[in-house]
Amino acid sequence: METKVERSEMLAVMAGIAADCLSCDDFSQIIDPVLASLGEVAGISHTSLFVHEHDGHENFRALLRGEWFNGAHFQDGATLGLTSFDYIHDEVSHWLTALRDGEILHLDKGQLDIELLPLQPLGVQALLLVPLMHGSHCKGFLAFAHREPLDWSEIELDLMKMAAELFCSALGNEQRMLDHQLATAVFEKASEGIMITDDRGKIVSVNPAFTNITGFGLRECLGRTPALLKSGRHDDEFYQRMWQQLQETGAWQGEVWNRRKNGELYPEWLSISVLLDAQGNPHRYIGILSDITSLKRAHAQVEHLAMHDPLTGLPNRRMFMENLEQLIAHARRNGNLLGLMFIDLDGFKLVNDSLGHHVGDRLLQTVAQSLKSQLRTEDLLARMGGDEFVLLINGVDNPDHLAKIANKVLHALQHQDTVAGSRMEIGASIGIALFPEDAKDGDELIRNADMAMYRAKENGKNQYHFYESKLSEEVVRRYVLERELRSALEEEQLEVYYQPQLNIDGSALVGVEALVRWPHPEKGLLPPSEFLPVAMSSGLAYPLFKTVFLQACRFIKLMDSRDIFIPKVAVNIAGVELITNGCCDLIIESLRSFEIDPQRIEFEVTETLLMHSLDDLAEVLERLRDVGIQISIDDFGTGYSSLSRLRELPIDMLKIDKSFVQGIAQESSDEAIVRAIISMANSLQLKVIAEGIETHGQLDFLRDEGCDLIQGFLYAEPMQGGRLAEHIEEARYRLKGEEPE
Ligand code: C2E
Ligand code: MG
Ligand code: MG
Repeated sequence: METKVERSEMLAVMAGIAADCLSCDDFSQIIDPVLASLGEVAGISHTSLFVHEHDGHENFRALLRGEWFNGAHFQDGATLGLTSFDYIHDEVSHWLTALRDGEILHLDKGQLDIELLPLQPLGVQALLLVPLMHGSHCKGFLAFAHREPLDWSEIELDLMKMAAELFCSALGNEQRMLDHQLATAVFEKASEGIMITDDRGKIVSVNPAFTNITGFGLRECLGRTPALLKSGRHDDEFYQRMWQQLQETGAWQGEVWNRRKNGELYPEWLSISVLLDAQGNPHRYIGILSDITSLKRAHAQVEHLAMHDPLTGLPNRRMFMENLEQLIAHARRNGNLLGLMFIDLDGFKLVNDSLGHHVGDRLLQTVAQSLKSQLRTEDLLARMGGDEFVLLINGVDNPDHLAKIANKVLHALQHQDTVAGSRMEIGASIGIALFPEDAKDGDELIRNADMAMYRAKENGKNQYHFYESKLSEEVVRRYVLERELRSALEEEQLEVYYQPQLNIDGSALVGVEALVRWPHPEKGLLPPSEFLPVAMSSGLAYPLFKTVFLQACRFIKLMDSRDIFIPKVAVNIAGVELITNGCCDLIIESLRSFEIDPQRIEFEVTETLLMHSLDDLAEVLERLRDVGIQISIDDFGTGYSSLSRLRELPIDMLKIDKSFVQGIAQESSDEAIVRAIISMANSLQLKVIAEGIETHGQLDFLRDEGCDLIQGFLYAEPMQGGRLAEHIEEARYRLKGEEPE
């Protein structure tokens, strides 16, 4: 053996190496000097350090971390020329096998010639590879090469092993340092906020991103709990569940609303994990949070786009269907009514084809705008595609509503409009279907409304059509009737018929009852039963009363001028709203201007009307009576007015309902009622008139019971004014105050 190292010298070098390895912060700084001292003390040509890199599979590569050349053997600046090698690729995997077993490898010239070609130009004759063992892992090796064949003593080998161990621990330190540096960099540079608390939930660290997001700096957070971010948006149960899951699984994540230092609320995505100590107890809680405000905003935008029609901004079919299902479920639970209108523009294709798509688009926007203006907040409007819109009316309490709304929509759309410089007529056809009447679910409701829309198109466009079920037809009928009645009233088409009222022996005309008739252009002469209910429910009661009353006044004047004296005209009043001071004013004022003695006017108020506990009813009736107008109670016996109520009111006469009169000689109970009414009237000192007398039997009974006046087909039916004049002349009634001939 050429080079024999003194044991003491070697130990001194080792101690130096150990000191270097333990004290250094940066391992790479000491590699080369350490390799030099090793090589020098061992008196060999070349020392090097190779570190393993694992590719994650079975492959290991060895990377050169440092090398030293003996100046006496090589020129300065010499290098191995081998910075890495791959055990498998370079066909030296048996080296790895040995090294991983912790074996020191001796390679002599013979082996080196075949095995590590790059070393050949260096003229290496002997090579010693000492594994860097960390437990059972081989982290790399120290290589000692010599240009002469070499024998190693046991002591030398032990020392080399020792050196390898020192390198190994220095490498470990280096790794830990790198890991620490990496962790610090991640903590500092992360865009997510990181908050670390101790086992009691007190904050021990936060990173700059946390401060960015929350506004709270490290100092403000230290020692406090994450509750400093609490928004108040989550209930206690929310936090309890979070803690429970953390305890059970060691992790939690979810969306949390927190509050920034400036008070602003924001949504964050929070992941918390628990770090356990050696005993398995929670040591640290690590919360990683990211501000998802913009994410949420973007999400909401995407949602909006997915749910809305970009052209008009209205909800699209998808959103409509989702809402419809919900509203239907709600309506089903609460038993309320939904109305769906399927609206299709008339002639839209023509506009699109002749004026271009941009005009079509503008038109659709205009239409959407007008439809929107018809909406209440609880209604839902959507564009289904093309020129089709749907309008869902929620909580329709009266099906008439829908017809009215449909009409409003048609009216709103049907006007000459200027779109993109072109004047055009916009019209629409509307189909209406009701839930639950017409459909059991949303799809069927839309289908039926769509079908009804086609009917509207067939019928000539620019109109609405109800899906045909009985109820819907009734709605349409009523609505049409209301519309016609309104214009009939405006155009004074209603006519008043008069039916004579006589004294009990039929010899004297005491008055006439004004009874309204509607000469309908298609349906012929309509009796009040056909249109009064519609008038009452659609705000037409007052116009109707006015028409009848004023016609009656004019009729009295006309008859007066022809010297045909009508002692009194009885006008019917229906509807509580009529018995008001406003109506009284109209009456009194008209009588004054017509110069009609108020004594010649009587109002027939139905008994049911009296039952309304209207405070000022008595007052208003009193006012009428004060000027001399008479009040009678119509259809008496059909209501339940109490004797005391009758006594309170200023009444002149009771009118026995014809249903009782017609029961005379047939129903003893009716006879009993008639008898009771007459005696009640006597005791209240009121007059009694019986209506609907058709037979002499009825007349005889009434006369025997003491009824004062009579009205009925037996004497005369209601008739037009002109006919009444003739009738009066023919019948030669004895007028009031005249003695019988
Ligand atoms: P009412 O006030 O009880 O009028 C009497 C009704 O009995 C009239 O029916 C009259 O034609 C009918 N009548 C008269 N004598 C006989 C008879 O012998 N036999 C039968 N079967 N019927 C007879 P009309 O004209 O159809 O009126 C029905 C109801 O409509 C009236 O009942 C009244 O409540 C209401 N009405 C009529 N005109 C007006 C009006 O101008 N204003 C208001 N508010 N209601 C009116
Ligand atoms: Mg009447
Ligand atoms: Mg009556």
